Amino acid sequence: MTDIGIIAVGGYDEVGRNMTAIRYGEEIVIMDMGLRLDRVQIHEDAETEKMHSLDLIKAGAIPDDTVMNNIEGTVKAIVCTHGHLDHIGAIPKLAHRYNAPIISTPYTIELISQQISSERKFGVENELRILNAGETYPITEDISVEFIGGQHSIIDCVFAAIHTPQGIVLYANDFKLDRTPVLGDAPDFDRLKSLGKEGVVAMIAESTNVQRSGKTPSEQIARDLVTDVLVGTEETKSGVLVTTFSSHIARIKTIVEAAEKMGRRPLLLGRSMEKYSEAAKRLGYIDFSAEVRGSRRSIDKVLKRVMTEGKDEYLMILTGHQGEPGAVLSRIANASTPYEVEKGDKVIFSANVIPNPLSAANRYIIETKLRMKGVRIYDNVHVSGHASREDHWELLRMVNPEQVIPSHGELSMTSAYAELAEEAGYVLGDTVHVLRNGQELCLR
Ligand SMILES: [Zn+2]
Repeated sequence: MTDIGIIAVGGYDEVGRNMTAIRYGEEIVIMDMGLRLDRVQIHEDAETEKMHSLDLIKAGAIPDDTVMNNIEGTVKAIVCTHGHLDHIGAIPKLAHRYNAPIISTPYTIELISQQISSERKFGVENELRILNAGETYPITEDISVEFIGGQHSIIDCVFAAIHTPQGIVLYANDFKLDRTPVLGDAPDFDRLKSLGKEGVVAMIAESTNVQRSGKTPSEQIARDLVTDVLVGTEETKSGVLVTTFSSHIARIKTIVEAAEKMGRRPLLLGRSMEKYSEAAKRLGYIDFSAEVRGSRRSIDKVLKRVMTEGKDEYLMILTGHQGEPGAVLSRIANASTPYEVEKGDKVIFSANVIPNPLSAANRYIIETKLRMKGVRIYDNVHVSGHASREDHWELLRMVNPEQVIPSHGELSMTSAYAELAEEAGYVLGDTVHVLRNGQELCLR
């Protein structure tokens, strides 16, 4: 009988640089090739284009795929489930080593091709193949990949089911079970349930927020929070600056709609704001009419106009939610743009602080600078894109996999998932497996 192997390449010792290989006999499918952002001290506007793979591996910034040299078999496809950098950011550095197509959803493929074209060290010529949610693509005679619609903090995110003659391996990385999303459809629960009935031999599931009790609120709740802060105020003359994840298109749509309700013109400012929202617009995911400015010069020009025409005419959506130096919000706080911060201006962080000391320090610096100028700060106007404990419970019961492998987290997260699985009757080391980077688990 042909065996199935799960190789934990990256993202099992940390949050970031995700990469998992699924081996059926000697045929291998790679799931994700991500970057670990804090290891290169970068933010959304960062540049790693000129660095070599081995240096980035040494820095722990990309998955150490040299472990693949010890695996017998050939990589037949690289599959990415969404466009976050911790899932696609290492493609320019690693994909050229494999003679295999890269398969992903339309928005993700668009972001991947932008990544590849900005790469300066390696030429990546892998075929880029679009697969929509609900579609299946035959990778080899034995293996196919099916995309199942999901929800997360970026559009066009899917669950991936790898079908083999020995059963299905489901890759659930990343997801939230959002039944009332602001953009796109709710996860395809019917299909997930029917996969469970067909027979899932293994599920690889993210574990990032498994230690959070209860259920992650819907993006609809984030819309209420944002609207409450922006529209629900009697102070209507002050400057309003909102910062959020550039790739969170649903959230940006919400903020743009709030601007319209306030009678203000929305401005999207920052290089990554331009990159993610223009791509979403081009592919037809959004059609709002916000002005978008990416380059420093054009941003400064538009900010000059804001100062002349009046702050209360505009609502600005900016990069810099983690206080990243060089992002638009930091430049404004440092008084290095024509925008003059005044007492009473509002700054809304529609994001959480990413839990690492670098982000905490940057956020502290920027918030202090803004407060010293009399700015009112609204923190954490946000809901997460990751499943919480009871969402994980629900998916586990729905899919009912024979074996489960928690991923996308530090040991504290993957082992907390293992405890949850134990509550559902799984046995550690037998049917639930905590892996570390570099290890292979052979099923049966
Ligand atoms: Zn993600």
